[in-house]
Amino acid sequence: MTVNSHTLLPPWGSIALWEEAGDSINYLVNIYKDRLTMAFNQAEQVKGHLKSLFHLLDELCFMTCLWCPEPCCSRATVWADFKDLLFFCLAGEKIPPAQLIQQPADSCRYLGKRGCTLPRIKRPWICTLYLCPPQNRILRRSSSGVQEKFSQAVQAIKTGRSRMEDEFIRITSF
Ligand code: SF4
Ligand code: SF4
Repeated sequence: MTVNSHTLLPPWGSIALWEEAGDSINYLVNIYKDRLTMAFNQAEQVKGHLKSLFHLLDELCFMTCLWCPEPCCSRATVWADFKDLLFFCLAGEKIPPAQLIQQPADSCRYLGKRGCTLPRIKRPWICTLYLCPPQNRILRRSSSGVQEKFSQAVQAIKTGRSRMEDEFIRITSF
């Protein structure tokens, strides 16, 4: 799943920059916490919608990943973005220890022998959103209720993340 140009560098690729980014966001969240109620609420809603997807994602993974000839995470060029860090801070989730990759050619540092070593809630949204073709085929064969629930949750997460970021910027910019 290559979603970014290889000419781009991941933000906060070094441990120092990553920690500085997390500390800065946490600092602002703490300073403005009394005025960030809406952003906290959005993050909490996003968290709920994310959790509502995890069982289905675990099932899809169980049906496909064990026999995968070329695991997507070993060739992915993806990273956590600002919304991901902000979500962790607002949702009370400890930020993972480092960015996924430092250079576009790197493999994700969280890829272990049995798949991703991060709990689903701590993975960047792009990792949760991505369904490979076999998983998409299985989802398309599932009931319309399951598909509808999946697409509604995805849309709610996208909207919630944008609102959360907009509100955070609005409050902390003045
Ligand atoms: S999500 Fe798809 S491509 Fe990625 S490891 Fe699982 S089966 Fe393979
Ligand atoms: S964080 Fe996990 S799911 Fe995302 S690319 Fe890395 S190993 Fe894969």
